Amino acid sequence: MDFNQELRNNLTTASQLSNTFPDIKINNRIEEILEKYPISIPQYYLSLIDKNNISDPIRRMSVPSFSEMDLDGSFDTSGENDNTVLKGLQHKYKQTALILSTHKCAMYCRYCFRKRMVGATSDEIAINLDEIFDYIREHKEISNVLVSGGDSFLLDTDTIEKYLKNLTAIEHIDYIRFGTKIPIVLPDRIINDNRLLDLLKEYCSKKQIYISTQFNHSNEITHQSIKAIKLLQQAGLVIKNQTVLLKGVNDNPEVLGMLLKNLTKIGIVPYYIFQCRPVSGVKNQFQVPLLKGYEIVEKAKNIQNGNGKCMRFAMSNTKGKVEIIGKGLKQNEMIFKFHQAKNPENQGRIFSRILSENDCWVDD
Ligand code: SF4
Repeated sequence: MDFNQELRNNLTTASQLSNTFPDIKINNRIEEILEKYPISIPQYYLSLIDKNNISDPIRRMSVPSFSEMDLDGSFDTSGENDNTVLKGLQHKYKQTALILSTHKCAMYCRYCFRKRMVGATSDEIAINLDEIFDYIREHKEISNVLVSGGDSFLLDTDTIEKYLKNLTAIEHIDYIRFGTKIPIVLPDRIINDNRLLDLLKEYCSKKQIYISTQFNHSNEITHQSIKAIKLLQQAGLVIKNQTVLLKGVNDNPEVLGMLLKNLTKIGIVPYYIFQCRPVSGVKNQFQVPLLKGYEIVEKAKNIQNGNGKCMRFAMSNTKGKVEIIGKGLKQNEMIFKFHQAKNPENQGRIFSRILSENDCWVDD
């Protein structure tokens, strides 16, 4: 089945929600949430949820809750607006260009850090691709491009080809990354599109292509998602995983540890565990305090072999990508390091903070 046809079968309305989950009743508040933050769950992803378990991790990631209307937090936690140089193009770090290629996703994650736009508005996305490619051509310091969104693999195959054709032709680009959860939420989009796979293979011989994906729980690792991942790997792509640490989903050393083990088993390198951002409607629902999060990540790391230990526990704030290194000598002291800094003077800098048990973020 064509993936657009498959998307038409997604769960998208309050009545479908209440028909699927016996505990959810349609009311004005549900309608209000869906109007602001749409729901979209592919039938495949829906089939992974235990409908009788309100704590099911996949349900928690895909089904809305009333907490989404909690406005505590911010809608731009890492200064994306300040880093935007052209519509749809961000240039925060010297070497990296980030393109917001679409505002759509096959599944709208309830914890999304781009909730302000994803599924809601196309105001921030790349329209004039030629202008964007010109900018990247002129900025020779850019060595890699991340095509993100929304979900970049929800673009049609012709548009993906346009990205590949233009970006692989720029000499100073070392590699291209696509940010996508499609292998996890709609694997058939990859499995059934031989043309996409042929294109990826062809362009991978010109420049290395990476996939940044986001498995958050082992229940997402299925026969279908493994098949999609294997096809991408056979086309020559390198798949790396960024997990978001999420309360009620993977904030448990065994759950997180099993996820990392299961990822390395299928040839995916886990490279970041990200602290969930203090986004409005997400913050109080999904964030895990930093002190607790650090313990969980360390314990999960303890049950890994080499590749499973490669990941860093990090947060992306307005100043850069900050690694949460470990505890200091003082009570509740946490040591941080700028893994990537917006201000080059901060690159590699180490600093510490005394945290309270409930602190979930640092950005000063
Ligand atoms: S796939 Fe990514 S961009 Fe889309 S809703 Fe999920 S986290 Fe947000």
